[in-house]
Formats: sequence, structure tokens, C-alpha cells
Amino acid sequence: MKTQDLSSLESVRLRYRAVRHHRMKLVLKVQDQILTSLRDFLRKERFIEILAPIIGPATDPGIRGAKQVSIQYYGAPFKIMSSMILYKQMMISSFEKIFALSPNIRLEPLESAKTARHLAEFRQIDLEMAYASYDDAMNLAEGLLISVVRDVKEKCGGELKGLGRELTEVYGSFKRLTHKQAVELLRSNGYMVSYVEEIPWDAEAALSAMHEAPFFVYDYPLVSRGFYDREDPNRPGILRDFDMLYPEGYGEAISGGEREHTYEGVLKRMKLTGVDPEEYGWYLQMLKEGVPHSVGFGIGVERLTRWICGLKTIWEAVPFPKVPGIASP
Ligand code: AMP
Ligand code: MG
Repeated sequence: MKTQDLSSLESVRLRYRAVRHHRMKLVLKVQDQILTSLRDFLRKERFIEILAPIIGPATDPGIRGAKQVSIQYYGAPFKIMSSMILYKQMMISSFEKIFALSPNIRLEPLESAKTARHLAEFRQIDLEMAYASYDDAMNLAEGLLISVVRDVKEKCGGELKGLGRELTEVYGSFKRLTHKQAVELLRSNGYMVSYVEEIPWDAEAALSAMHEAPFFVYDYPLVSRGFYDREDPNRPGILRDFDMLYPEGYGEAISGGEREHTYEGVLKRMKLTGVDPEEYGWYLQMLKEGVPHSVGFGIGVERLTRWICGLKTIWEAVPFPKVPGIASP
């Protein structure tokens, strides 16, 4: 059996063998440090860790073609969280800075297995800050990544060496491209991507491969994102949101943005993005009563592990991977 090659689907199906391999252990040691460093950094920034929800009446619809999973909860239709974004907005009424290690289920399209960066089950460190802007959030994301890379290099040098990964230190002032500038760059390299849509997976990988350090893309066009990303009041059609991308072809690391938090604003955006307000009863009621304005982002833990360890696939970066379309433990 080819379970030695952890990028093989055989090693996903026969996971009880794969988890014993030396290489897998090295990855999991690094992942343990990554989780420790993420938490240490956020605590220093005075974030409070909360427990993430797993099920609820509604979840994040802005998931780029993936399907949500529905369950019956004592006769009521419930969803498994595709992200806890609505709950983060609930919590910042209580604490100004919160985060959670949030497990998410998204039935991604079958072809996403080929990107090597999509799982059907993954985890984010998902955070939210009240009364802050997307510039604050990008600055925080930058500091977070610098700190995690520094810690891993310092504490897991042996593991990185064993994995054959030469991880270069990252420094501040990450490059920041507007979505428009990113599209122009892609177009000048032969990727005829749209100015008014999300960047497709292949173009995102190409954009990432053009860079040697992490960078941001910000100001996405209006209908490319969920109803909760805030439109710039002075620049209609542009959202005050961002992604951070890893270099070397690894693609998206983070998505985040300022929140549309007014009842009327959200209703308008729900109509525009084809979301049925009926399904978001408690959330809309909460907005009617008022929540602080806020900004937040989520960083995928498996993707971060993959990039730090320099792994061919995301399923080498998690003990029990769920690859779209593959039944495994
Ligand atoms: P999103 O808000 O949809 O961009 O998700 C936030 C972050 O979670 C992304 O930037 C990724 O790091 C991670 N993520 C999203 N979808 C997946 C997936 N299918 N598999 C692994 N990680 C994911
Ligand atoms: Mg995203």
C-alpha cells in the first residue's frame, strides 16, 4: 500500500496507517506549535477565546459554490456551520475582541479536490474586533503571520528540516493590491479574469506563484462576497474586505472584512445575493436591536500548516482529512 506517500489518496483512505508515519508526526508537531502560537499572539492582543458553535438554524451562505449540510434538530431544520460569522457578530456585543478555533463543513465541488487546498471539513481561527477597520484587520493578520512563522522557525527547526522545508522569515509591510490591480496583473499574464467576480482557483494559484512573500488583495467587487461584507459608503460597488494569500502557489490564506451590520443594509444585500431573509430570523432580529460595527477574518489552520510545512496537498496537513468526494475515516 502506498500510504508512505502522504499526498496519495490511498493514505487518506487508510489513515490509521498514515498517522503512524514519521513525516506525518513531524507535520503534527509543527501544527501543535502553530496552534499554540496563534493563541499566544491573540491573547497578547487581548482577544478572548470562545467556544465555536457546530450547528444552528442558519450559517454562512457566502461559500463560493460549496454546499451546506442540513440536519433535523428536533423537527427544526438546522445547518452544520460553514462558518461562525453570524455568531462572531453576536459575541462582539459582549467582548470587543474574540476568537475561536471553529470547525466548518462545506461540501465543496468534486473538482476542488484537484486544487490540493480544499477539504470538506476544516478549521479556522476565526476572529472579530468591534469598532475597527479593515486596515486594522490587515495589520493584525500581518503581525499574526510574522509571529507564527518566527515561533515555528525557532521552536520546530528540526521538524522543518526533517520535512525538507526551507521556510523564509516573513517581514512586515506585506504588499497590498486592490482587487482591480490583482486582476490587471493576472490579465497581463494571460489570465482573462473578471473585474466584478471572485478570482477563480487557477488564477489565484497563479497570482500566488508570482509572489515570494505573503500579500493582500483588498476591495473586492460587490456581488463576489457574502451579504455581511460592508460596501464602502463612498465608493459604491466596492467592499471593504480582503484576502491574504500565501506565496509560492499555495493560494488563499485568509478572508476578512468590515461587516455590514445594519438591518436595512443586510436586507438589501441579502436580496442582491439571492439569500432568503426568512432563514435568518434570529440574526436579523439581533441586527434590528443593534450590534457594534466590527471587522473580522478567518485563517484556515490546515492551509497555514500546509504552507509552513511546504506540503504538496492540504490532506497532509490534518490527521483525519475529508477530501471532497473521498470517503475516509
Ligand atoms: P472563507 O471565509 O470562505 O474565505 O474561509 C476562511 C478561510 O478558511 C479561508 O481563507 C481558508 O484559509 C479556509 N478555508 C475555506 N474553505 C476551505 C476549504 N474548503 N478547505 C480548507 N480551508 C478552507
Ligand atoms: Mg475566502
